[in-house]
Amino acid sequence: MVRIPIRLGLALTAALVVVPAGVARGGDAATAPVGQRLGGAPAVQARYQADYRAVLDPESGLAHVRWRLTGNEGYVGRISLRVDPDRYHNLEGDGTIRAQDGWIHWEPSRGRAELRYDVQLDHRRAADKGFDARMTPEWALFKGEDLFPPTRTLETVPGAEADARFTLEMPDDWSLVATRRGVGRQSVEIEEEHRLLDRPTGWMIAGKLGVTREKIAGVWFVLANPAGQDFRRMDLLAWLQVTVPELSRVLGSLPPRFVIVGAEDPMWRGGLSAPDSLYLHADRPLVQRDGTSPVIHELVHAFMHARAGKGGDWIVEGLAEWYSLEIQRRAGLMSRRRFRKALERLEQRGRAAVDLEVASSNGDTTARAVGVLDRLDHQIREATRGRRSLDDVVQRFQVERRMITTARLREVSEEISGRDLGKFFAVNTAGTHRATGVTG
Ligand SMILES: [Zn+2]
Repeated sequence: MVRIPIRLGLALTAALVVVPAGVARGGDAATAPVGQRLGGAPAVQARYQADYRAVLDPESGLAHVRWRLTGNEGYVGRISLRVDPDRYHNLEGDGTIRAQDGWIHWEPSRGRAELRYDVQLDHRRAADKGFDARMTPEWALFKGEDLFPPTRTLETVPGAEADARFTLEMPDDWSLVATRRGVGRQSVEIEEEHRLLDRPTGWMIAGKLGVTREKIAGVWFVLANPAGQDFRRMDLLAWLQVTVPELSRVLGSLPPRFVIVGAEDPMWRGGLSAPDSLYLHADRPLVQRDGTSPVIHELVHAFMHARAGKGGDWIVEGLAEWYSLEIQRRAGLMSRRRFRKALERLEQRGRAAVDLEVASSNGDTTARAVGVLDRLDHQIREATRGRRSLDDVVQRFQVERRMITTARLREVSEEISGRDLGKFFAVNTAGTHRATGVTG
């Protein structure tokens, strides 16, 4: 087995903390002095270590997972993991562990404590659909969240800091591509705010791989697929070369590293974004027949900081879809005429969507949303004589990181355009009305 440790040196307060390399690896991290805190007065800081470990076992199809907390002098009272009971087995560990209604509640004993379980890695997107996590004798493709699920943590000492490390063990001749670099003993530190316990997240692929790396618009893109599969990484790379600079102009700063993984059947025939990463089925085209681009759509999702609030999914999906056309137009990949044609087609399809503010935007709703957002872009440009646009709205969302709702979209759009958009929103987002092209 090969061990690839990835250090996630977490500074869990807003202050910058320099973690001496030797400290976080040792078991004495909990008592490390914080004299290294820049600018602030040295203070005794609650500090412990979180060790995440997963062993991939292709023969059994299982990942053996272990969480280990060291130096937890009561800083973490309880960790609750949201799990799929069908995939999580053989639960054991130190302290109190309770499995109930799709949750594992773990109250770790003080000092050093472990939680161990096995995860059935294979998982289908839906009963009759392809896999969105899979392990074969040759490779494994999954998200960090498959092994270390979303948690709720009861912290008894607010502001306690954790040094976290993730180690993946896998067959000798395998290699790993993940959102954080981990080669040999090389360590990478990240800072996270407002989170007590950070977990490994994002898409990962391990095994015998085909890999292409390139820096585009300040982002190290890593494209990877199981060796021997046809993911057309060079086509994708060329596409990224022309579209990512445009995306970065709209969305502002992008992550320093971004992973795109792909695979053929029986993986799920779609695209899925996760933190700093993206999965695409190998057969997904760069541009679909309707002119939209699944790659750009998923990249917008992955790069957007804000999430949909109640009834706001049409905005999140609509923005991803509208920019999947608009970015192509700006990059010179699509003529204005073809852009308008694609919009008209979506407009047509969107007529089937009676309600925009649905919990999860489907194809029809998203098609209607594209038309609404395109008209909103026109409104803003018209009101500001072309100085402002939908880009400014998105940039505001990027900075404020609030939940996106129809009301918030209207507020920000009105602020940016200086125009009362009450009638526009009444006409364009009404539940019983159809999108009619009225610009109110
Ligand atoms: Zn989407």
